[in-house]
Amino acid sequence: MKALIIVDVQNDFCPGGALPAPGGDRVVPVINRLMDQFGLILASRDSHPSDSTHFDKWPVHCVKGTKGADFHHGLDISKIQQELLKGTADKDDGYSAFEATNKKLVEILKNRHVTDVYITGLTTEYCVKSTAMDSVRNGFKTYVVTDAIAPVEPDSENEKNALSEMKNAGIRLVTSDHLK
Ligand SMILES: [Zn+2]
Repeated sequence: MKALIIVDVQNDFCPGGALPAPGGDRVVPVINRLMDQFGLILASRDSHPSDSTHFDKWPVHCVKGTKGADFHHGLDISKIQQELLKGTADKDDGYSAFEATNKKLVEILKNRHVTDVYITGLTTEYCVKSTAMDSVRNGFKTYVVTDAIAPVEPDSENEKNALSEMKNAGIRLVTSDHLK
């Protein structure tokens, strides 16, 4: 059983948002196309309180109830079976979807006998990487779909390090063609 995890495809992480990944919205059609290949589709969202120590490190983004926290309008949300809300407390960074506070992602995956986890979304260096590292740590065969992710800082050392860190941890970097 394989599961698709869509990380933080929210307005604030897309062009025009508060903390955009340049070209972040280009992941949307790729993810929409991938959805048909999966029996289980989960999506995480940052859902921050307006006052959080998280905003000592980052511009204010994805505040609960704001448009910035909504999914990108192009994402086919009708196929998302469960939503994972993270960063919900005032000292909670919530980079990884496994840190969601409304649901326990590990339990959902284990209950559904998931073996293979495919990760997509935003952003490569932070929430995608943290989610992928937690996935592999929890024993799932973990894939990151490289044409379905985008970094905050394209071509930066941070992005390169994130990709090599994931690879070294045994995460498989694949393109969406891999799933056809
Ligand atoms: Zn955040």
